[in-house]
Amino acid sequence: MKNHHLKPVLSGLLILLFLASFGQTVYGQSAVGLSSQGSMPPQSSGNDFNQLAADWTRPIEPDPISTTGESSNGEGSADPDKVIYLTFNDGPDPKWTPQILELMQHYHAVGTFFELGRSAASFPDLVRALAEGGQTLANHSYSHVDFTKLDYGSFYKEVANTNWAILNALANTDGLSSQVSACLRPPYGAVDTQVYSYMNQIGFVPAFWTIDTLDWKGIPGDSILNNVKAGLGYANKVVLMHDGGENRENTVEGLGLVLHDLTLAGYRFKPFCTGTN
Ligand SMILES: [Zn+2]
Repeated sequence: MKNHHLKPVLSGLLILLFLASFGQTVYGQSAVGLSSQGSMPPQSSGNDFNQLAADWTRPIEPDPISTTGESSNGEGSADPDKVIYLTFNDGPDPKWTPQILELMQHYHAVGTFFELGRSAASFPDLVRALAEGGQTLANHSYSHVDFTKLDYGSFYKEVANTNWAILNALANTDGLSSQVSACLRPPYGAVDTQVYSYMNQIGFVPAFWTIDTLDWKGIPGDSILNNVKAGLGYANKVVLMHDGGENRENTVEGLGLVLHDLTLAGYRFKPFCTGTN
């Protein structure tokens, strides 16, 4: 809308300020009204959005030679090749999320949890536990719908209500809302140019992955480990796992193996989509 909105999109701090105001907007106005206006601030910040998307977006099909993000992988880390970004979809879940969080904490690992809004609304204590455990929280829609089948108003509600559920779970906590990311992972990885446009309008950045563990197929833990190891050559090692949706016993086992073996191999586990990567 205005040029002074450009810089904040790139600034982690101001992204969070935006999220805060966004949350209030959700309280105060109907999604339908907002959708017809289409006037969220980042709408004209195309260049910044594209840069963020280039940094955070990877194709669904893993590309063995990543050319994005080597320069955005920074934080002055000594060896960026030894950083793994663990990400979890479809939670929080009262059975699996606590087990996964416990493992992550045992290995001093932090990752990013792409939450379903309906689950975040049902289990706010789990959202809070993740944030208190230092994990990053991000958006995976409210009801796990295919965004390519939605009009803008429905898309907006899916994203905004999820954002609200996460922020509401963190209300009255001491700064935990700073761990909520502006990243949005579309269910099924389903996007098209219209969905990208919708995301741009509400200031959310698409976030995919480079290493699919295939845990969603229910494969054994050692196969999950092997699938992660097979992707260690990628410049950006963004690992897809699931902490909800179905029986995740094998995911818990596989995660334990990944954390054990790759910690020993010198890898560190950092959150994806924090505004600095
Ligand atoms: Zn999902």
